[in-house]
Amino acid sequence: MSAPSQGQLVDFGEAPLLALRNIRKTFGSTTALAGLDIAVKPGELVTVVGPSGCGKSTLFNIVAGLEEPDAGGVIRYRDRSCHAAELLGQVSFMPQRDLLLPWRTVVDNAILAIEVEGVPRKEARARALAMLPEFGLAGFENQYPQQLSGGMRQRVALMRTFLFKRDLMLLDEPFGALDALTRTMMQRWLLDVWHKHRRTVLFITHDIDEAIFLGDRVVAMTARPGAVKLELEVKLPRPRRADLVTDPEFIRLKRLLLDAIEEESIKSFNLSRPAGA
Ligand code: ADP
Repeated sequence: MSAPSQGQLVDFGEAPLLALRNIRKTFGSTTALAGLDIAVKPGELVTVVGPSGCGKSTLFNIVAGLEEPDAGGVIRYRDRSCHAAELLGQVSFMPQRDLLLPWRTVVDNAILAIEVEGVPRKEARARALAMLPEFGLAGFENQYPQQLSGGMRQRVALMRTFLFKRDLMLLDEPFGALDALTRTMMQRWLLDVWHKHRRTVLFITHDIDEAIFLGDRVVAMTARPGAVKLELEVKLPRPRRADLVTDPEFIRLKRLLLDAIEEESIKSFNLSRPAGA
């Protein structure tokens, strides 16, 4: 493999932990991403929203090191240009489906990634057991995934991601399949855990409220081919309270994002706006 070219970074002030510049990804005749620029600073929680099919999963796969972008783009991780493949193992990630193994207990599912990494089983289990209360799973260590609620399963999967300690955590719609109430509880809980562990997070979602509620910055993507349509800083105070969704600043950001996403969704469905809208 030839070394990726050195690119000029977008000026994000503080040096980003991860920066993607001019990322393009084609699958045959389909261009999934074109000219995508995203950066995540250390300790930041950046959320990415976009219409369906805009390339969010493709972005996820590139940052997880599972997919290589086309030539010409630049990936920088910790001040160094690299190929996507080099991110594999550097980034902890949680895909949409929780991928819990039905024959493993809660604790054995949670330790899967660090066990594969070589942490002795006894030590891995001790680390997981210590984390159970924080993840609302105390007393459930010997249960199997099929005995758990949807929210609990997601917490086991998140615990696996947290245990696999990496500078960057990548979460792809972790709460997408949960009912609205559980989802809200999980968002607040995630912010508590994030605050305590001070991780850098890239969080992919199609839910605008979730993106604003969680994020330090929200990146809205264009319709396919995906690029950045709009980037907004969320200056709402932390810890974020549940009633934040009624704050005028929250509503202002939501309106901007809704407009941006609607414009892009219309493009991707080839629709036109209703008269007067
Ligand atoms: P999103 O996650 O935002 O819904 P995806 O990243 O899954 O979007 O897909 C973006 C586009 O790329 C879609 O048109 C999809 O069909 C296409 N695509 C994604 N992965 C592949 C693949 N492995 N082969 C062919 N096309 C793909």
